[in-house]
Amino acid sequence: MKAAVVPELGAKLEIQEVAVPEAGAGQVLVKIEAAGLCHTDIHAAHGDWPVKPNPPFIPGHEGVGVVVATGPGATLHKPGDRVAIPWLGSACGHCKYCVAGWETLCEAQLNSGYGVDGSYAEYAVADDRYVVDVPDAVSSLDAAPLTCAGVTTFKAIKVARLQPGETVSVVGIGGLGHLALQYARLLGARVIAVDVEDAKLDLARALGADLTVNAKATDPVQAIAEYGGADVAVVTAASPRTFEQAFASLRRGGRLSCVGLPADDKMSISVFDTVLSGKHIIGSIVGTRHDLTDVFALHAAGRTKVIAERRRLEDVNACFEEVLAGHVPARLVFTF
Ligand code: NAD
Ligand code: ZN
Ligand code: ZN
Repeated sequence: MKAAVVPELGAKLEIQEVAVPEAGAGQVLVKIEAAGLCHTDIHAAHGDWPVKPNPPFIPGHEGVGVVVATGPGATLHKPGDRVAIPWLGSACGHCKYCVAGWETLCEAQLNSGYGVDGSYAEYAVADDRYVVDVPDAVSSLDAAPLTCAGVTTFKAIKVARLQPGETVSVVGIGGLGHLALQYARLLGARVIAVDVEDAKLDLARALGADLTVNAKATDPVQAIAEYGGADVAVVTAASPRTFEQAFASLRRGGRLSCVGLPADDKMSISVFDTVLSGKHIIGSIVGTRHDLTDVFALHAAGRTKVIAERRRLEDVNACFEEVLAGHVPARLVFTF
């Protein structure tokens, strides 16, 4: 099969012909129809984060396709089922996090396209228990971005306990941010969209943002203060400065929902401001299988719109450049 492989950290990806993996015990073999390009895949290939993947590996954790074979003991899915393979490739299922509904915090988890091979390939194997069924009403092209960008921002807004009538700033209107904005509106919040690209802000307005701020042209802290401040900030931009600005833009009692994962890993926050203003800082990592099921159901009901463009896997390196340049209308998806 054809796969995009990271041969070593920081190197260009290679399109290689590799053997179709076999579904092992408890696994399904999925023929991939659509694989979204999450910015995380770029961080993975570059080795940007403190915990690094082990090359060679196949990135991708927004994989959607059809089950074509099942391994021994895989009984939840059968050939023909259309499923999504998310970042949470598998978890132990019995630790305190798993049983409490926080499987995304399981210390024994394996991550698709990072710890185990992902979906930048014609086929991928996945844990029968951790793939999520895709409803018929959701196309594979739409399901792919929902599998990480969707579920991640859906969860980031849930953990920030956004309330109707509140104001939220969504910082970074890329793959994640364009969906964050929509979930915030569904909850009845007013939305301030912040980005550094005018085209992204045009998209934000088209999706219903109440205010847009180009952080390259305007100080976002001042612009948001003039608007009355934000109760919640969801930061998806991968730069520490944006977290600091988003924190400074919060009203008293405000919640900073940290989602982006900058290579430059430190932010500087005033303890005084945190304490006196009663602000909260929350880290939010993807979402559970249950969250993803909710995300798919909302989309099937017509409540969200995925902005995505198709690409060929052969163009993966050019696609990484496009995303890094900020020239992508929300999400790129490799289709097969
Ligand atoms: P993306 O490239 O599609 O979007 C990033 C957006 O940020 C772009 O629109 C870009 O123009 C904008 N941006 C860049 N600099 C900015 C600045 N200074 N101010 C405002 N906006 C700015 O990326 P994505 O796929 O949406 O992923 C975003 C980040 O989220 C990545 O770091 C990724 O690794 C991380 N991520 C985290 C989780 C999680 O579970 N926490 C899940 C998926 C992705
Ligand atoms: Zn992702
Ligand atoms: Zn566990």
